[in-house]
Amino acid sequence: MDLVTETTPTHRRDDTRHCAWCGRRLPTTGRVGRPRRYCAQPCRQRAYERRAAVHRGGLPDDAVILSHDELADLQDRLFQLRCAAEDILTALTDGATHGELHTLATNMVTTATDLERLR
Ligand SMILES: [Zn+2]
Repeated sequence: MDLVTETTPTHRRDDTRHCAWCGRRLPTTGRVGRPRRYCAQPCRQRAYERRAAVHRGGLPDDAVILSHDELADLQDRLFQLRCAAEDILTALTDGATHGELHTLATNMVTTATDLERLR
């Protein structure tokens, strides 16, 4: 197990909220009251179980623990994001067309969006 201390920024660039378990974007609701923290009941349940396990281990309540596989998957997707960014840089250096750059940039946005998923 690898311990990752939660680094959720207090001020995101927009008001987008993410599931506290899996990291997927939460749908924005016009509801008043306490904003939802999880995208679905299974996420809420798994977060509760993990929190209880973390508590037993004497770790801080806001500690985020990723399994080795979850961390490896996250690192794979970070690597894909870097590759997508390098593709754009290479294309720029090679004098790519606007259309080619647009395709590469679209690919990078897709890769970055996938990275919002933690698990
Ligand atoms: Zn979720």
